[in-house]
Amino acid sequence: MGFLTNRKALIVGVASNRSIAWGIAEAMYREGAEVALTYQTEKLKSRVEQCAAACGNGPVLPLDVSDDAQIDAVFEHLKTHWGALDIVVHAVGFAPREELEGSFVDNTTRAGYALTHDISAYSFVALARAARPLMQGRGGSLLTLTYLGGERALPNYNVMGPAKASLEAAVRYMANDLGPEGIRVNAISAGPIRTLAASGIGDFRKMLDHNAASAPLRRNVDIEEVGNASAFICSNLASGITGEVLHVDGGFHAIALSGSALGSA
Ligand code: NAD
Repeated sequence: MGFLTNRKALIVGVASNRSIAWGIAEAMYREGAEVALTYQTEKLKSRVEQCAAACGNGPVLPLDVSDDAQIDAVFEHLKTHWGALDIVVHAVGFAPREELEGSFVDNTTRAGYALTHDISAYSFVALARAARPLMQGRGGSLLTLTYLGGERALPNYNVMGPAKASLEAAVRYMANDLGPEGIRVNAISAGPIRTLAASGIGDFRKMLDHNAASAPLRRNVDIEEVGNASAFICSNLASGITGEVLHVDGGFHAIALSGSALGSA
């Protein structure tokens, strides 16, 4: 019996079989959870259905997180069909492609800044508010995905950096609000992984190479590793953990200079 048996999980953010959300769905299903998935656009629906087929054929629902009516409709559906909810995973991020290269100061527009924060940070708060009534009396766990670019500056990540910093601060405020109800709120800060969203970031391949060469584990992580950590942090095995940003990045965040940079390892 898996450590998520009898848990009901909504996972937002599958776009392809490379999506971090796909790795999370597989890990949670393997550990016994029932999994509901959403798709952002009709174009992505069939790929999300493939993920659902591999994860127990739970509900597959449309959801653009910038639309409050669609958020309400998803949770209304889950209330009717499941009656309760234990886990929400928010694996969603977006910034205009032209703002993910070159100078942050020169290339960040007012509209791009607002849109990036709306989709990548505020939407987690909106999902939490909608999920809260379904989690009453059974605890619950909310998880989002972030990146080191929210803590430190690096080339091309640009407007996504402030959005991830906002998201990580929201995790702490949400944990403080919802903790008294037994609802935990955490983030996983994943190392770079080649996905559709990542392909929009300038020089992403060079980032991958640099991380693999410098991280203490001397390699990049994959969606299975992020999925396993996500399943753990959303389970009772992590019942004492909330307001946390857990790095799943081969240790890259922990170092200032790796041995490989000095040619010693
Ligand atoms: P992905 O492209 O597979 O997933 C991004 C998802 O966001 C897609 O499913 C897309 O449909 C969804 N999305 C975007 N705008 C949306 C909207 N308006 N409504 C609903 N959904 C919307 O890429 P991914 O790398 O798996 O990204 C998942 C999360 O992981 C993101 O928050 C990303 O910033 C974060 N992350 C990624 C990496 C990486 O290197 N790939 C590293 C750390 C964190």
